[in-house]
Amino acid sequence: MHRLYENDDIVVFWNSEKCFHAKRCVHGSPGCFDPKRKPWIDLKQAETKEIWQAISECPSGALSCLYRHEIDVKMDADNCRSVAFDGDKEIGECNYRVNEEGWNIYHTGVQDDYKGKGIAKRLVYKILEEAERNCVEISATCSYAKKVIES
Ligand code: SF4
Repeated sequence: MHRLYENDDIVVFWNSEKCFHAKRCVHGSPGCFDPKRKPWIDLKQAETKEIWQAISECPSGALSCLYRHEIDVKMDADNCRSVAFDGDKEIGECNYRVNEEGWNIYHTGVQDDYKGKGIAKRLVYKILEEAERNCVEISATCSYAKKVIES
């Protein structure tokens, strides 16, 4: 299971397949990480600094985070894509095709000026999260998306 969480400052990625429940995150920031709550991660419940520190101590790599850079990433399911915006300006997208097996991601792209900020990973995660919530199988012919799925 892949999940994406955001506050004004950061974006948090969680890959449940890597998590071996060592609970370092829970000890590091009990407000943010609460296994008894749904969703179990709530970035509003602690300061960003505390959350960042707790994530840095995750031994499995299940949790990771990046600065948000004031970029929004949204689903555009009608057009089979996730989209990144800087204000009103579209600056990246990740596209998939619907086939018999599920959704196949075939392209991920971010404008040159915005590269190196983790936006492509957010775009892929947005689609993974949406597919999992809809119980749809996901695959990728886009080499970048494939790397994110397998990492
Ligand atoms: S610290 Fe990492 S491995 Fe441990 S419970 Fe949290 S996410 Fe899972």
